[in-house]
Amino acid sequence: MTTNAQEFARARGAMPGGVNSPVRAFGSVHETPRFFVSASGAYVTDVEDREYVDLVGSWGPAILGHAHPAVVKAVQDAAAHGLGFGASTPGETELAELIAARVVRPPVVERARNERDETPWTGDDSQARDVSSRFARSTTEAPVGRVRLVSTGTEATMTAIRLARGATGRDLVVKFAGHYHGHSDGLLAEAGSGVATLALPGSAGVPAPIAAQTLVIPYNDLDAVREVFAARGAEIAAVIVEAAPANMGIVPPAHGFNAALADIAHANGALLILDEVLTGFRVGPAGWYGIDPVPFAPDLITFGKVVGGGLPLAALGGSAALMELLAPLGPVYQAGTLSGNPLAVAAGRATLDHLDAAAYARIDAASTTIADAAASALSEAGVTHVVQRSGNLFSIQFAETAPHDYDTVKAQEAFRYPPFFRSMLEQGVSLPPSVFEAWFVSAAHDDAAVARIVDALPAAARAAAAA
Ligand code: PMP
Repeated sequence: MTTNAQEFARARGAMPGGVNSPVRAFGSVHETPRFFVSASGAYVTDVEDREYVDLVGSWGPAILGHAHPAVVKAVQDAAAHGLGFGASTPGETELAELIAARVVRPPVVERARNERDETPWTGDDSQARDVSSRFARSTTEAPVGRVRLVSTGTEATMTAIRLARGATGRDLVVKFAGHYHGHSDGLLAEAGSGVATLALPGSAGVPAPIAAQTLVIPYNDLDAVREVFAARGAEIAAVIVEAAPANMGIVPPAHGFNAALADIAHANGALLILDEVLTGFRVGPAGWYGIDPVPFAPDLITFGKVVGGGLPLAALGGSAALMELLAPLGPVYQAGTLSGNPLAVAAGRATLDHLDAAAYARIDAASTTIADAAASALSEAGVTHVVQRSGNLFSIQFAETAPHDYDTVKAQEAFRYPPFFRSMLEQGVSLPPSVFEAWFVSAAHDDAAVARIVDALPAAARAAAAA
């Protein structure tokens, strides 16, 4: 049997930093990364044969728990019929239909939605000149009329931006500091997730003229949104926003923020790209779009993680009018050798099929129990903290008041997280290896798994207090 340390030493000789994605190196928590050999339900097992309750969940996809039998069987069945054809399959259509059918507002919200002022496009010429009113739909319409399947969240957001530029004939994109949308050139400026963990302002290798096409503004700040549109409105193709940000820890959107964003973007002829790569099908059957207290009309929505059930698959969706600007129908090019891969499609379909009301109820209940226990353990240990939640996503932040943007997130006592994390790990709980990441609970987190987490929290909180 090898050890994690031996595996890491060997990996570093073969791959930069020993990893294929930066935060896996455990650098910010000053710990040897664990090398896993298997996973089942709520648990993962490393090369030293140590088992951990897992709160990373493959960074989101493992929402039913690891190696869910129905998902594994769907993938095995698909594999037996061929690993991919580079041609269309019926399964892709079924997954696309499933996505479109799920992403609707639940009926109870319908009433509130109807109370909002709507100015649907009437076909009037003056409106037709305004690209956004040609594509922006009312909040009463299902936002996903067509879907394109891709392989990663990065591709989904990259394609959404190209599409927005193609549709509007404009170049600039507005993004929020601390939001992560994958690693395409234009989206790395002041990004969350690993970019935040490594405290980088952006990335080397991004040409300045490309970086200049992205305008970065503070989150939850509508004045900043209005200002950027007042200054450059006619050049802005789209605003891209995490539906409920989870890549700087959890920072919930202010009440009505997404709706105001949509209104401002549309009033200026720009599109709203709602990034649900992390929240989609996790915080509820229709993602954050389905539970945001104020209804709104995103133009494009990106999905990833859960929608691929653990295999490389992501998607973007929007109205038929907008999506059909993509090749082969339209002038905006996008393609992929492995797009809509049948194994990934099978995993995604099986996952969505099993994400029923009972699964969400379980995830929500387990999340509440763990988040409450973390808060009381930290209070008990006298650690200044807040636990922020967006639906069933949560994370702890070592701050006196709830951070609402990237600056307030960065101002927290982040140094308390590494000892907290290491204590949990020693006690057999695998947390995200950065304070800037969400905790991912799955439907497989049963009472026994939750109890193991809850039991480990007091010692971890004391370790954070001693930091
Ligand atoms: N958008 C969001 C909101 C994400 O959380 C992520 C990944 N964490 C991405 C985009 C990029 O997805 P991927 O890692 O699959 O490229």
